[in-house]
Amino acid sequence: MKPVQLAIVGLGKIARDQHLPAIAASAGFELAAIASRNASLPGIASFNSLDDMLEQAPDVQAVALCTPPQGRHLLAAQALRAGKHVLLEKPPGATVAEIAPLQALAIENGVSLFTTWHSRHAAAVEPARQVLARAKISSAHVAWKEDVRQWHPGQQWIWEPGGLGVFDPGINALSILTRILPQALFLDQAVLQFPSNRDTPIAATMRFQDGNGLAVTVDLDWRQLGPQIWHIVLETDLGEVRVDEGGKILQVAGQTQVADVDAEYAGIYAHFAELIRRGESDVDLTPLVHVADAFLIGRRETVEPFEDAV
Ligand code: NAP
Repeated sequence: MKPVQLAIVGLGKIARDQHLPAIAASAGFELAAIASRNASLPGIASFNSLDDMLEQAPDVQAVALCTPPQGRHLLAAQALRAGKHVLLEKPPGATVAEIAPLQALAIENGVSLFTTWHSRHAAAVEPARQVLARAKISSAHVAWKEDVRQWHPGQQWIWEPGGLGVFDPGINALSILTRILPQALFLDQAVLQFPSNRDTPIAATMRFQDGNGLAVTVDLDWRQLGPQIWHIVLETDLGEVRVDEGGKILQVAGQTQVADVDAEYAGIYAHFAELIRRGESDVDLTPLVHVADAFLIGRRETVEPFEDAV
């Protein structure tokens, strides 16, 4: 089969760090165009806007939207109406409700819509899901603590309404958690800490339950200096199950079962190719629902102002 002609919209950090190499390594896709207001790639047709690209590059069959979540809906709707398959970076949108009209447009136009959760493609996630399916889980704890200045240098959209703040990385943890646990969760309690000069939180704690007595705690912090922490630790009758390094490592009762393998974006593009081949969409909003619930019931605390430079 000929590779699908794909365009990237929003050539920023994640597009350069992960999408470009994953597309180059994928047999299913060929990079055909870039649509970005301030960036271009030598040798690739580059446009300042999605509008221009849709008009001038009719051979493009699919788009990967790598812009910030705010404003993503309009771009996705435009691409779907033009008959393009659409891959949405996480989170799929700035609101929960904006995705349903996109699903309808995908059906109307006979194309695929894929709300990606890159952390779900990490190597330890599916093995962890299988272990937990046969375990009795007594507790689960998530710690996702990183240095925002290191991972989001100079990005302003993360602090603007809809940018999610610490939930931008935290939603990755929730995407793994909601894939590996056998039962659905719901939020009981949350505390969100907002810097006094920002519109999104820099830290948050969440407490979930699953309706059967399992308590899950989540601790998110963007002020972490020194070692960065991205782990989920579950106490089970099989011993401690530990998903570490953002989903790359799985340990069960102290034994390493999956070691540091990078699989995320290769997995995303393999799945996107499969969806297009089958004429299907893959839309799951569960992690975004939990974040929205945290904004709904979370207690707000104001903490010291955040400045980009220290
Ligand atoms: P980024 O570095 O700010 O890149 C986003 C790009 O989108 C910008 O370079 C910009 O390119 C374009 N853009 C269009 N409208 C924009 C606006 N209103 N404000 C800012 N940029 C705008 O962001 P990113 O880190 O790549 O994140 C993009 C998406 O990927 C987010 O949803 C994020 O959660 C997700 N993601 C990020 C990472 C990561 O490690 N950074 C990892 C996984 C997923 P032009 O100015 O050229 O248009």
